[in-house]
Amino acid sequence: MKLRSSKKRWWICVFCTCLLLGAHPGAAQKVKVSFNDYHGYTATTKYIKAVAKAYPKITELIEIGKSNMGRSIYVLVVSNMGTGTTIDAHVELRNMRKEGVQNVIPMKTYQGKPGHWICGSTHGNEYTGTEVCLYIIDKLVSGYGSDSEITPLVDDKTFYICPVVNPDGLYNSIEGGISQRQNSMEKDDDGDGRINEDGPDDLNGDGHITRFRYKDKKGRYVIDDEDSRLMVRLGRNEKTTKPRYSVITEDKDNDGDGEHGEDSERGIDLNRNFAEGWFTEKGMAGGSGDYAMSAPESHAIAEFFTNHRNILMAQFYHTSGGFTYRPLGTAPHDKLHPKDVAVFDMIMGKKYLEIIGEDIPEAWQKPDSLDKFKEELKKTSKNKYAIQRGYELPRGWRVSYNERNDRRYSYGMATDWAYLQYGIYSITTELWNPQKDIEGFPQFKGEDARRQVQRALLKYQDEEHEGKWFIPWKTYKHPELGEGEIGGWIPKYRSNAYPGEALINVCEKHWQFARFRAGLTPNIVITEAQAKILYTTNNARDGVVSQKGDQVTIKRGKSKGKYKIVEVTATIENKGKLATHVARGAQLACNREDVVWLIGDREKVTFLQGTPFRKLGVLEGIAKIPGYRAREGGPSQTPRQRGYGGFRRFRMPEVPKKLSPRQKSDEKPEEKQKGPKREVKWLVAVEGDSPLKIVVSSQNGGTTVKTLSIK
Ligand SMILES: [Zn+2]
Repeated sequence: MKLRSSKKRWWICVFCTCLLLGAHPGAAQKVKVSFNDYHGYTATTKYIKAVAKAYPKITELIEIGKSNMGRSIYVLVVSNMGTGTTIDAHVELRNMRKEGVQNVIPMKTYQGKPGHWICGSTHGNEYTGTEVCLYIIDKLVSGYGSDSEITPLVDDKTFYICPVVNPDGLYNSIEGGISQRQNSMEKDDDGDGRINEDGPDDLNGDGHITRFRYKDKKGRYVIDDEDSRLMVRLGRNEKTTKPRYSVITEDKDNDGDGEHGEDSERGIDLNRNFAEGWFTEKGMAGGSGDYAMSAPESHAIAEFFTNHRNILMAQFYHTSGGFTYRPLGTAPHDKLHPKDVAVFDMIMGKKYLEIIGEDIPEAWQKPDSLDKFKEELKKTSKNKYAIQRGYELPRGWRVSYNERNDRRYSYGMATDWAYLQYGIYSITTELWNPQKDIEGFPQFKGEDARRQVQRALLKYQDEEHEGKWFIPWKTYKHPELGEGEIGGWIPKYRSNAYPGEALINVCEKHWQFARFRAGLTPNIVITEAQAKILYTTNNARDGVVSQKGDQVTIKRGKSKGKYKIVEVTATIENKGKLATHVARGAQLACNREDVVWLIGDREKVTFLQGTPFRKLGVLEGIAKIPGYRAREGGPSQTPRQRGYGGFRRFRMPEVPKKLSPRQKSDEKPEEKQKGPKREVKWLVAVEGDSPLKIVVSSQNGGTTVKTLSIK
């Protein structure tokens, strides 16, 4: 294997990045950030606090909860705090938050913009995502004001960035040097009346908890032929003539019960603790918890999502593999609405594969020929879901559900929870694929690829990092297991993107993808608004109106006076690429459809035609959804699911029980209008010059206001 000089590549990389982003290098980088080593919990916290202090106009730091060990879980909000508005600021009558309800936080302006949740280190030893979060924060705050693409994103969208979901797991993995996937718990795992008394130990006192290997006739490992540092795991029934080894974490039996590491701080696997397809802990290593959302960390996230319903996109970063899981894992693919499938795969998946440099399935390039691909797959594939879709999912963009065996892979996962329960475009990305993320890294294929990669990684750290990341095996006499050797990767460098150039490569790719996804979100605009004074009168109820189609006929009163009879018209448009709700989201009773209010002084404005509050349904986006036909119907529904109201929840026409004398039955309800545009009309009597305000509010698409003066 030959690797080119890393210094040279680094400069090329910086140069390309600058070209790509059109930014002046370090234009407004008030807080420096480096990716030459992992931040861990302490430095991450320090960094986001410094950013919040340096950029008060576009960031806000929120503590959303605390871990079991008392460490804070933070979300850094990145959004222009001076732009945007919320319904709470305008629509007083509906505003529960102003009526002394203490447990609902007041709405902030950034909740009136489409929200993008991004988080890392749900699994404490998968901290590449934390670094990507910091990289994204840096791009957003230092690009704001100078980069023409970033500035509107920060003005019009909201990024909720939670670099560390699992503070204790990350703290132990980086600061503590003990790789820990789970959260921490003060729990008596082995039932001996003591808590966390038998975790891993630094037996040889070299400052690292690595591995202990020892000869064992029942061992599952042998030493690699080519690199004697590498331990090769044997298959279940694989025979060998070489000496067999067992490999364990550096550890001894601290409490004398004959077991190693059976009562450590290790607690719940947070990505098995979410309230979707949750499954009991019984028989499951690594713990899904006593009940769904039982961990303070997953609980904090659930509460945050509940209070921030503007979240439309969510990204959960994990490691490793270099691919993305889109939903679902807990249920088969056909439980997804076909429109969501098309958006996930043909829009997001396509872009993602482009960014990570993998082949895009032919069907995604020719979405109009899906029927043909389906027919072909009927002959060649045993995967019924692939046949339904018209394509097998590629390596880089997949589901964790086991489609071939039709079995769910997992349970209690955050991505499925966010999609199914909230209607969010949520995905989980497994960051880090050395073969793609290290430039010049050799490519391996076939059965032996895994081992080849392991060898190449060792060689890479020999050449690029003077072999400092791997502790050479040294003999050690274990108190219980006898002669053996201690050595191996320093845990923090074992399975995450290597600090420096490789990590920056990973960060850059996923920043590109996060930016792309944020750019897809809706953008609600009141493109036209007019208040036309038709005539004046002495009596607010004087106007007699009838409407036929677009034609409004007004019978004037006889008097002239203090009331103005005003016709208000407005055109509301979604100029964003995607609709204001995920198709799944429009099904959910917990989601609100888009609405519009006409607001004026209640004492001075009388509605003659149209109600102050109108429903708009779901405003579609302007992007054509490739490979999706509206009449295709939804996934197969079980009777229980039908309770959600089918797929047309927001399209159900509202039949008023009794028409008011001034309301005519041929009036076209706004929610019956389709596409990205709505025309709305009111007729009101206004006393004096009392101003009117049009407030359009979409849960995920943002809130926008236009004031009309009556003169
Ligand atoms: Zn993970």
